[in-house]
Amino acid sequence: MPFAQLGLHPLILKAVRSVGYSEPTPIQRRAIPVILEGNDLIGAAQTGTGKTAAFILPILSQMIDGPHRLRALVLTPTRELAAQITANGKAYAKYARLNIGAVYGGVPIGPQERMLRHEGVDLLVATPGRLLDLNTRQSVSLDDVEVLVLDEADRMVDMGFAPDLRRILKLLPPPRDRQTLLFSATMPKELNAVAREAMIDPVRIDLAPPSRPAAGITQAIYPVPRNLKVDLLDELLSRIELNCVLVFTRTKRGAERLSRLLQKRGHPTAALHGDRTQGQRERALLDLKRGRVRILVATDIASRGIDVRGISHVINYDVPHTPDDYIHRIGRTGRVDAVGDAFTLMAPEERDELAAIERALGRTLPRVMLPDFDYKMRPAEIGQSMRGEAPERHREPHGRTSVHGRAEPRGRSGASGGHAPASESRPRNGAASGAPSHARSEDRPTATSRAGQSSSQPAGPEHGRGPRRSQPTDRRGRGRW
Ligand code: AMP
Repeated sequence: MPFAQLGLHPLILKAVRSVGYSEPTPIQRRAIPVILEGNDLIGAAQTGTGKTAAFILPILSQMIDGPHRLRALVLTPTRELAAQITANGKAYAKYARLNIGAVYGGVPIGPQERMLRHEGVDLLVATPGRLLDLNTRQSVSLDDVEVLVLDEADRMVDMGFAPDLRRILKLLPPPRDRQTLLFSATMPKELNAVAREAMIDPVRIDLAPPSRPAAGITQAIYPVPRNLKVDLLDELLSRIELNCVLVFTRTKRGAERLSRLLQKRGHPTAALHGDRTQGQRERALLDLKRGRVRILVATDIASRGIDVRGISHVINYDVPHTPDDYIHRIGRTGRVDAVGDAFTLMAPEERDELAAIERALGRTLPRVMLPDFDYKMRPAEIGQSMRGEAPERHREPHGRTSVHGRAEPRGRSGASGGHAPASESRPRNGAASGAPSHARSEDRPTATSRAGQSSSQPAGPEHGRGPRRSQPTDRRGRGRW
């Protein structure tokens, strides 16, 4: 179905053509008519599916012919996301005489006050805290808001914004006098309560069960002792044909340290995390967008707003705390119909987190080892690292010793290099010859994998089954797999 049949205003359609979208994405096809009819909406859509245009396009269409005042409010958890939505909105409003502005913390409040007081905006994108500050200073009134969007609503609740959301809801016209659109990957209890208060008979559009990454993403797990993660990452970055790589760490300090280390090792790298000033954060994103750096090390919060075209790889330097974080992180690649790779470096002590992610995904992810990389592990440890299996020393017909893991190559052409599917019999000494192939495995258990076996349940004879915490630690202090 072409965009023209969705009922959007001709000037908005013109802008859609000018940004180069040829067809609406599934969320756009389903959400746009529902929004244009004036319904409240709860939308669950995968990251990178064109969700922003799904709500901004119909909102702008509805506002084009009306009076100029603050009529649409988009609340979003992070300043990066606010900036991103604003940039998209301005592109979509290119031919309409509508003002779009953003307010968020981390930058001086003065210019935002001036924008609101003197220029006026029709659509405001805001983070909750800064919006409340501006309201307290009487720089913005929400009395005329006709459409409210809660974007990445689960993350706003996760980040502790639920009380702010409630305060903001009280400043708005009541639910019957406004339209409310809520987009969220999950519906935690607290959010359900907010939705009940804020919405009237919402139409639900569930495009993808939460916790499912976009289709074009190939995922792989690299088991590695924690102390070797930097070395492995360094190798990976040297070997893959990298276009644009996002590396995620859990902590701000971790992101800063890792980006310095990578710089020292000769990889031009930028860092994006909450301890950086807004200017530094914007510069880091711009450097990545313009290709001045190919690697950006970021924390989860920062990941929410990143929409850089052509991210070829997302690398989780740490296993994310929650399945949601995992989905959001890897959603930075494979946006809309692109493809991308998502690698996760997993230390033995991170196996429980990975098991939770695999449970949420409903499948095991392939384990991969990098040929020629010195894991400084004994074969037995390597065997265990591949999902806690009993190490299996295998004599190849040609006399090499290899260790069996579980992944199966998907065989997508143009593999970006340097990785050995764990299921391939490969010598530990790195004799993997020729053009090494990557484990382009489907993200589902394969014939060689033990389907459904959780990685938190090592089956090797040394460990038996049981929680990782109870596993022994070897003499060098490394946790066993
Ligand atoms: P979002 O899920 O809103 O973060 O969008 C992800 C990316 O998809 C953004 O870079 C959009 O510019 C792009 N996008 C949105 N809608 C379309 C479309 N119909 N066709 C192609 N790209 C799109």
